[in-house]
Amino acid sequence: MNSGSGSVSEMFGSNVFSDAVMRERLPKDVYKAFKKAVQGHEPLSLATANVVANAMKDWAIGKGATHFCHWFQPMTGLTAEKHDAFINPTPEGRVIMEFSGKELIQGEPDASSFPSGGLRATFEARGYTAWDITSPAFVKEDGKNIALFIPSAFCSYTGEALDKKTPLLRSMDALSRQALRVLRALGNTTSTRVTATAGPEQEYFVIDEKFYAKRLDLMLAGRTLFGAPSPRGQELEDHYFGSLHERIASFMNEVNTTLWKLGVSAKTQHNEVSPAQYELAPIFSTVNVATDHNQLTMETLVKVARRHGFVCLLHEKPFTGVNGSGKHNNWSMATDDGINLLDPGSTPHENMQFLVVLCAIIRAVDKYAKLLRASVANPGNDHRLGANEAPPAIVSVFLGDQLTDIFEQLAKGSAKSSKAGGELMLGVLTLPQLPKDSTDRNRTSPFAFTGNKFEFRMVGSSQSIAGSNFVLNTIVAEILREIADELEKAKDVKASAAKICSRIAKEHGRVVYNGDNYVEEWVKEAAKRGLPNIRSTVESLKTIMDKENVEVLQKHRVLSRGELHARTDILFEIYAKSINIEALTMLSMARRQIVPAVAAFAGSLAESVNEVDEAGVSAKSQKALLKKTCDLLDQLNDGIEKLDKAVAKAKAVDGAEKKADAYFKGVVPVMHEVREAADELEKIVDARCWPLPSYAEMLFVK
Ligand code: ADP
Ligand code: MG
Repeated sequence: MNSGSGSVSEMFGSNVFSDAVMRERLPKDVYKAFKKAVQGHEPLSLATANVVANAMKDWAIGKGATHFCHWFQPMTGLTAEKHDAFINPTPEGRVIMEFSGKELIQGEPDASSFPSGGLRATFEARGYTAWDITSPAFVKEDGKNIALFIPSAFCSYTGEALDKKTPLLRSMDALSRQALRVLRALGNTTSTRVTATAGPEQEYFVIDEKFYAKRLDLMLAGRTLFGAPSPRGQELEDHYFGSLHERIASFMNEVNTTLWKLGVSAKTQHNEVSPAQYELAPIFSTVNVATDHNQLTMETLVKVARRHGFVCLLHEKPFTGVNGSGKHNNWSMATDDGINLLDPGSTPHENMQFLVVLCAIIRAVDKYAKLLRASVANPGNDHRLGANEAPPAIVSVFLGDQLTDIFEQLAKGSAKSSKAGGELMLGVLTLPQLPKDSTDRNRTSPFAFTGNKFEFRMVGSSQSIAGSNFVLNTIVAEILREIADELEKAKDVKASAAKICSRIAKEHGRVVYNGDNYVEEWVKEAAKRGLPNIRSTVESLKTIMDKENVEVLQKHRVLSRGELHARTDILFEIYAKSINIEALTMLSMARRQIVPAVAAFAGSLAESVNEVDEAGVSAKSQKALLKKTCDLLDQLNDGIEKLDKAVAKAKAVDGAEKKADAYFKGVVPVMHEVREAADELEKIVDARCWPLPSYAEMLFVK
């Protein structure tokens, strides 16, 4: 494919039923009515939907589509799609291609086999999908199948949200409502909507598929459950930003072109810290579209990797001992007339709108730290958070020099100055003078201000970003509500805003931390400051139903108590099921691959001992190795038996939370024991009889 700039700009969005396509294909009044609906000003009428559906169908068929599908995001964290052909029979035994407004607006998939957290019984199968008009439809090619994809929300027969998108859309409305109240109070008369924006940086691993096929753990659990460390890991720091391997670069090229066609603005690509680890970042968009696009990105990485003889691993921790993968969720708020509410300008201390928004976010993050933490809780992330490669499980905010200085001035009363960045002199005449940012970066902070946005770095690589964003939107909406209540009553709005900022700075200084988040001293310091440090998924999920969380989500109509409870149960269930799969996979590999290999190795060693002895020479080394091997094999066997019992015990526990707890406390520690013995064996057993590809092969062979 020619990737000259002309062809990329033609290709970009070519499979999207975009604004431009609609303007071209829809009658003017229909186009206008549709736009009004998208902006939330008027509901979409069935008449409009009928015309849009017809235009969409013609456009999609022109692209080769034979089917349409409502594309939604159930609580599995993945996407779901059920395809229907456009065909409709005629009396003459032929077909015509049809697609009605009703079919566009609403779908009715059987909902009984998606996680519902008890919101419905299995026999109550009805569920609905509803077209999300704020995220454009697109045509996607999967092999020879071409279908029209309609981004949709998914709810139960009784209207409860069963998906990731519904609360996200609700939270966007809440945020817009409250942010507008604050803007109005501060004198803004022009903006009519405030939208949360997100740019998720996606980390992932890519390994050769020939190794994957030999690793049951990667195939079933997404991560290695065994594996002695490679003699070389990431210590030379030579992979990060290193020159792209040609096979990888070709894979990335196809990922980009596939995404560009779908209108996903894949922008940045590079090698990440760990060998075999990479990153892809898009240009930011509204959180809703960014969430859909991130799902498409993950799917595309996985599918395209296969075409190149690779496998893409999205798990948070595919390999022990080297970095795992996260997803940096860059987040801000923008008005419909183009103001980024987190743009500090050159003199932030004078920018009251910015300061109010900044303080609102800091208060929200401190007050609802546990909920934010819970939004990134999943079994994969348990291996990352706090392991010196990702932020610890302590939520804190990095502001950098300039804003910290202002924040501290606010805490003392009012802000009177802003530190400037200045210029960098490199001492070489031929190199340009560089403007210096007013603030350095901090890669270790979980929630860092990065110039004109916050970067939430605790999100796991495999997670949908819907969760972290609906929580962020909601908690910030709540603090903006508090502020709006106060400002709307104030006689002197400016003075009142300054007072609010000062109060927040005094109260929430504890959550601001600019140092290294990876060091042990921070953990102690954070404890002194009273910041929660919730290290595991199970502990974290237990905080979701806390009173203040239920209240805030309910108040802003993002999730009802019942919906939140169901979701929490689903997350507990997913945890228990994931650990169950890991443990069963581990047992299978240990019993059917590792133990037989080690037993054979021990057998051949024993033969060798006898032969060497018979020859009248000391077999001291062989004997020592045989002894060590047999001791470790015993240890492994004990572990296997223990794990077997632990799994049976956890499995028998009733109730989502209790079961998850049983797996966390009863199964996970035993899995460590099994792994330890097996990994020690891998270090001494003849490489020719070890049944699994090694870390060195998987991480370094391309
Ligand atoms: P860095 O993390 O190195 O600062 P960038 O500035 O390129 O890198 O941004 C990283 C991600 O943040 C990109 O996906 C980018 O689109 C996104 N981003 C930039 N501005 C915003 C914003 N206002 N809101 C949300 N995301 C943003
Ligand atoms: Mg970044």
